[in-house]
Amino acid sequence: MAWTCSGTSNTALIDNMWKNGLITDARVKEAFLKVDRAHYSPSMPYQDSPQPIGHHATISAPHMHAAAIEHMLSYILPSSTSPAPRVLDVGSGSGYLTHVLAELVGDRGLVVGLEHIEALKVLGETNMGKSAEGRRLLESGKVRFRVGDGRKGWHEAAREGEEALGKGWDVIHVGASAVQVPPQLLEQMKAPGCMFIPVDDDEGGYSQHVWRIEKDGNGEVTRKKLFGVRYVPLTDAP
Ligand code: SAH
Repeated sequence: MAWTCSGTSNTALIDNMWKNGLITDARVKEAFLKVDRAHYSPSMPYQDSPQPIGHHATISAPHMHAAAIEHMLSYILPSSTSPAPRVLDVGSGSGYLTHVLAELVGDRGLVVGLEHIEALKVLGETNMGKSAEGRRLLESGKVRFRVGDGRKGWHEAAREGEEALGKGWDVIHVGASAVQVPPQLLEQMKAPGCMFIPVDDDEGGYSQHVWRIEKDGNGEVTRKKLFGVRYVPLTDAP
């Protein structure tokens, strides 16, 4: 699937993901088109493959970011039950997905990018600051980058007027693989809410699958194994 979607420009890359059925929703396509991957990937930004960003981290392949968004879309978009979606992006790395998510959560939504390496938290902010749109999102407070251990989740302090939005997360995206689903992340999911998380199949973490975990309005949790992947692990901070 990767490679076939590569392009010579941001538009070509996104168009190819659309043509290949990796992006199926026009709103998702529009969000991706607003974010130039060259601001986030230091090398070969329009190739559909992961690229190194330093600190043993990588920006994930575009088709993986597309899959994450497509599998959680109904929770990311504002709705009558959740007009101001709250999204936590664990292991925000380059900040690319954090930015694309922010294009989808609507006027009142919030996206928090969480990193355990300060330099990568700063990288995410710096990359977003390269475009006028990214700066606008940072200045408005819709996107915030924080430092912390993503396995513990994150409690974002409410700003004025945000108190009624609740504390949990409508969406938790995890960009690094877990040995098991961290209980604190499950607790912090709203009901309804959704999590996208790569989990090791075995002890060595040699094989992994992405799981989509959904919590319904009654707090009932269901899990679906989506597809095999190869992500860097969630670790202790260096
Ligand atoms: N979504 C990012 C992926 C970056 S790679 C992108 O596409 O750019 C995975 C990231 O997870 C790395 O940046 C790494 O620093 C971070 N990470 C690893 N363990 C973590 C932890 N315990 N808490 C928070 N972030 C972590």
